[in-house]
Amino acid sequence: MSSSDAHLITLPQALFRGFCRRCPRCGNGQLFRRYITPQRTCSICGLDFQDLRADDGPAYITMGLVCLFITPFFFIAQALYEPPLFLALLISLPLTLLILLGLLPFVKGAFMAALWKTKP
Ligand SMILES: [Zn+2]
Repeated sequence: MSSSDAHLITLPQALFRGFCRRCPRCGNGQLFRRYITPQRTCSICGLDFQDLRADDGPAYITMGLVCLFITPFFFIAQALYEPPLFLALLISLPLTLLILLGLLPFVKGAFMAALWKTKP
């Protein structure tokens, strides 16, 4: 498979492969060598991941997604249980941070796959 074979893979397919932290082209190679550190190339098909510079995009998307879905949860919990402020912060801040850090590699994988798929 060469880099010109991007047209054979649909955008949802590439996004899913990236979300699974796999190479968007072959779907088998690992995208990251550590937490969110990308491999230089795919160990299976040789796709160069150096061109897929995600920068801060995945972090912004992850923060937006988490805030969008977790904020209503906290409002509902506040309305139902009326916890004291320190208890609400004690629970909500670490929980939000854990969800953010847990979701980030998946979003970064999908973001890098989108970069690869939409690259001219
Ligand atoms: Zn590959």
